[in-house]
Order: sequence, then structure tokens, then C-alpha cells
Amino acid sequence: MSTNKIDGKQIAGLVTEKVKERVENLKSKGVVPGLAVILVGSNPASQTYVNNKAKTCERLGMYSVLIELDEDISEDELLKNVEALNQDDKIHGILVQLPLPSQINEDRVIATISPLKDVDGFHPENVGKMMIGQQSFLPCTPFGVMKLLEYSDVEIAGKHAVIIGRSNIVGKPMGQLLLQKDATVTYCHSRTKDLHSFTKQADILVVATGRAKMIDASYIKEGAVVIDVGINRDENNKLCGDVDFASAQEVASKITPVPGGVGPMTIAMLMENTCLAAENTLTNK
Ligand code: NAD
Repeated sequence: MSTNKIDGKQIAGLVTEKVKERVENLKSKGVVPGLAVILVGSNPASQTYVNNKAKTCERLGMYSVLIELDEDISEDELLKNVEALNQDDKIHGILVQLPLPSQINEDRVIATISPLKDVDGFHPENVGKMMIGQQSFLPCTPFGVMKLLEYSDVEIAGKHAVIIGRSNIVGKPMGQLLLQKDATVTYCHSRTKDLHSFTKQADILVVATGRAKMIDASYIKEGAVVIDVGINRDENNKLCGDVDFASAQEVASKITPVPGGVGPMTIAMLMENTCLAAENTLTNK
């Protein structure tokens, strides 16, 4: 086991301990933070994520409901479920597990979630607020990466952060959050020419491509901090990241493993966002 490994499980534990205290404080004021998760269809990976979220809610003393809907549900029916949750006072956070089946327009579903309950931070209003540095729900995965960096004492200001991936849920917001902490940010993606020339300059390299083990030591500057967001299965059906951990850890100063790196942080930040949504109902009264 490498000593430069960032232990996401341990840091997620520290984050959720603080959330638990906030939950207890809310309960003393008569509010139990509640999260509703909508799962459409029976994708096994989604089911695992959803079960982990419910278990963590329970452990922290939060209320959670799981709404399971048929794979062939119409968009209208799904939107009705979201609207009912928007009106439900016991529910402070709403999460619709993605991806959704092809008959459903994801953008429309996300836009229907009340921005006040959008604990995934995907609603255009929250995305816009994040862009201009106003308080909003931050998307859980990049928010979790920022916490990992903070708890690991990684200096961000003035550093060159290179993000590989430009999805709306990981890559794009990741760059924004690092920019807000004064990093110089470069985005790379599937059309980037000569990826090595960019990644070799990175002080902080965040990889979110969904390509198993594509980044090895040859892409990494000596002493860089490497954050692996990827969740893939390797040729032996074992979980692995987008980074070849064994090779990369030889040159990185700090590196997240998969599993046990970014993954646990995503759930921890969802709990923090749900708690914040519940706290907001008291301050907005
Ligand atoms: P996505 O497919 O939406 O985006 C992938 C991005 O990678 C794209 O922007 C694409 O341009 C870029 N890319 C693909 N191949 C590339 C290549 N060869 N070179 C350079 N760039 C390339 O994926 P996503 O939703 O952003 O997720 C990325 C990975 O992170 C996936 O493995 C996903 O399972 C994982 N993920 C993990 C968590 C977590 O909690 N740990 C959360 C969300 C996503």
C-alpha cells in the first residue's frame, strides 16, 4: 500500500460525522432532513448507488424515500412524481438517478426539480449561481474532490489544474470550483490533441473520462496530485479508475485509489447538500 494514497473513505467519514452533528441540531429544532431518490428502471449499477445513499441517510439519522419507477414510464408521469416531491415538506432533497431511459428528456426532468431541493446541483439555476460564485448546491462529485484536496492539505491557488473530461456533472464544474480557488485551469477532452503535453504540466490532474486505466505515469509530472474520478470494470471485472494506479503512484505525490477515493466523497457531499437544504428551510422562514 502506498503512503501517498488519499483515503477517500476516511475523509468521507470525517465529513459525514460533521453532517451527523448538523442533523442532530436540526432534529432538536423539529426538522428531520429528508432525501427522495427516484430510480427509473433496474440498472444494477444505479441500484447499488441508490442503496448506498439510502444506507448512509439511515446511518446519519436522516429520512429517505426511494421511488422506483418502471423502465417504460412516460416523461409526464416522471415529472408528476418530481412535482409531488417539490410540494412535500418532509423532503428537502430530490435526486433523480441518471442515466434515464431514452423516452425521457433528462434536461426537462432536472429543470422540474425545485432549485431549493436540487441536492445534485444540476439545475440550471444552481449551475449559474456556481459559475458566478453565489451560494448554491454544488454538484456532489466535484464538491467531493474539493473536500478531498482540502483535507489532504493540497495547495490550489496558483497551481495548474488540468481536468480531463468536460461533462456537465463532473469535468465542467470541477474546473469552475478549482478556478474559484485560484488555480489556473486547463480542460482536456476527447478532441484534445497531444494530451500528454497538457497533463505533463499539471500540478493537480483530475481524470474523468470513463476510460479504464487510460492515464499512466507517462502522463504525469513528478510530484503531481492525481484525482481519479472514473469508475470502470477492468478485464477481470474488478472496479478500477481512469488512472492506472500502480503506475501513477510511482510519480504522483498524492493520488486517489478506485474504489475508496472519490466515490465515497460523492455520497458524503450528497448528505451535506441535503442537510444544507433542510437548514435553508429554517433560515428562509
Ligand atoms: P462522460 O462520458 O459524460 O464524459 C467523459 C468525458 O471524458 C468527455 O467530456 C470526453 O470528452 C472525455 N474523454 C473521453 N475519452 C477521452 C480521451 N480518450 N481523451 C481525453 N478525454 C476523453 O462521463 P462523466 O459522467 O463525466 O464520468 C466520467 C467518469 O467518472 C466515469 O467513469 C463515471 O463512471 C465516473 N463518475 C464517478 C463518480 C463518482 O462518484 N466517483 C461520479 C460521476 C461519474
